[in-house]
Order: sequence, then C-alpha cells, then structure tokens
Amino acid sequence: MKGRILKSTGSFYSVEIDDQVVTAKLKGKLRLLDQKNTNPVAVGDTVELVLGKKGEYLIEYVYERKNYLIRRSVNLSKQTHIIASNIDQALLIVTPVYPETSFGFIDRFLVTCEAYSIPAHLILNKSDLFVGEFSELLEGIEYVYHTVGYPTLRTSALEGTGLDELKTLLKDKISLLSGHSGVGKSSLINAISPGLNLKTGQISDYHFKGTHTTTFAEMHRLSFGGYIIDTPGIKGFGLVDMTPEELSDYFPEMFRLKANCRFNNCLHINEPDCAVRAGVEEGTVPETRYHSYLSMLEEEKAGPYRVDEYQ
Ligand code: GDP
Ligand code: ZN
Repeated sequence: MKGRILKSTGSFYSVEIDDQVVTAKLKGKLRLLDQKNTNPVAVGDTVELVLGKKGEYLIEYVYERKNYLIRRSVNLSKQTHIIASNIDQALLIVTPVYPETSFGFIDRFLVTCEAYSIPAHLILNKSDLFVGEFSELLEGIEYVYHTVGYPTLRTSALEGTGLDELKTLLKDKISLLSGHSGVGKSSLINAISPGLNLKTGQISDYHFKGTHTTTFAEMHRLSFGGYIIDTPGIKGFGLVDMTPEELSDYFPEMFRLKANCRFNNCLHINEPDCAVRAGVEEGTVPETRYHSYLSMLEEEKAGPYRVDEYQ
C-alpha cells in the first residue's frame, strides 16, 4: 500500500492512504538504514506500508524524495532533521509590523528555498492595517521583491482580501507555510479552508511575538484540494553545505550579474570591477538584499550555519 505521511510524533505516524488516515509505525530495519538523519521518515514522504502480524500498519519503505528541507541538529552533530519533503512551493507569510518580519529573515528564507529549488511566494498579510500613510510599509517590501523577481500577494484574513488568489495558489499543490507566530497563518488558512486547526501559538497581543507550541511539522489537507505543511516553532531552515562563493548563487539578482565580475571567485565585498556592487549602485540589487547577503556571508565564515536561531 502506498501512503503519504501527514504527521509524525516521534514513534507514530499519521499516514493517508487513499482517503483514510491511519496510524503507522516504522518497521524495525528502516531506522537503521538512515544514519544521516535523526528521522528516517518525514512529513510529505510517500511510503510503502505493509500490515504487521496484529493488523497494524508498518512503514516499510520511503519512496525517493523530490526535495526536502532540513534542519541541523541543535547540538551541531553531523545529523540533520528532515522537516518536510516533496514540497511544490513555499509561502512565507509576512507582516512589516505586528509582528515585524525583517528583511533579513525574509532573505534567509528565500535563500533556503533557492538552495532547495523550491519556488517561493511572499504573502503580505494584515493588508487592512497598512493603508493610508502606512501603505508605504507594504510598498517597500513589494518594491524589493518585485525587483528581484519573487511574487507577492496582499491578503487580509480579517477583510477577505486576496483570499481567492491565495486559494488558486494553493490548490492541488503541496505548500510549505511559514512565518513568524502572529502574522496570521491560522487566520488565513481557517478563512479559506474552515475546520483546519493549525497549531501555531496564539498570541493575545500582536505587538509581541507568540511563543511556539511544537517543533513538529504537520501536513493538512485543504478542503478545495492540495496540502499545506505547517512548521510551527521552526524559525528557519538549515542549508545544504555551501561555500562563501556559492552564497550569491541563491540571490537570483546577484546570480544574474556575477558572471560579469572581474574575478570568478568574487565575493562582491570590495573586489575591483564587481558587477554585483555595480548592481547595488544601479538599484538592480536592492540594498536590503545586499545587506542580508553580507550578514549571511559573515555568519557563514564564522562557523557552522545555524539558521534555526535567526529571528
Ligand atoms: P499565526 O500565529 O500566524 O497563526 O497568527 P494568527 O492567525 O493566530 O493571528 C494572530 C493575530 O493576528 C490574531 O489576533 C488575528 O486575529 C490577527 N490577524 C490575523 N490576520 C489578520 C489580518 O488580516 N488583519 C488583522 N488586522 N489582524 C489579523
Ligand atoms: Zn562581484
């Protein structure tokens, strides 16, 4: 039997087989096969199941993953934790304030998506709050990401703005949903697919960031078709190993320019004839993006990459 992992609680898995959801355990040997990851089976995996002696469902085999997101173990061991797999697209829900999503956070998220070849969208929620003189806050974000080439969508879970477009975006796809606690993930999903309870932390006053509830990812089926993967409590994702020279490959606007740098190992800091810095001057590389690039480069040099700790 073929199934899809919707949820993992450590030793038990919720698996969707056709239209029903069953509980399954790993077959003993599976755990031994995967030494690289702390979890041999992840949310989003397509698996092969067999029935055990007592009629219980056992996961026997994991089909090849199209892609997957990892997080490095906090103790910096070599092992990684697979957050989710087989992702069609990633949606980052963003608000400029209430709570603030910084450009640095957005750019780290986008770099991760580029590194894993996952198309990314920015959803600018609470658009009802950013009207009049505050509309500049949204326009600033839109300007930067349109320059770079990422699609954005304004939504308001409160007023219903952008919800049809959001549904169209999510329909029949597996989408990873991310964003700080309090940006409105649950409100948006409940508005388009009622009855779906995301386990994001509730915050009573959205001037403060909510506390996280759990760090397990979970996949939910949308009423109109498709799935969303919710990653409560996960602030960021670990990157595949990369050299400092490679970092700019994951900033599409820099990648487009870097072939014109004088040196092919240019880090775009202070080298002569650097096409990326020329791009910053001309505005094709937004300053906030360049700033994110430099600070990621610093952290990359400082040692093992610890994206999970970024806010
Ligand atoms: P989550 O932590 O990302 O799931 O965020 P929630 O959906 O729990 O929303 C956090 C707070 O923001 C709640 O008080 C919501 O009522 C509020 N909220 C969510 N979406 C909107 C919106 O579009 N506009 C406004 N003004 N408030 C919103
Ligand atoms: Zn350069």
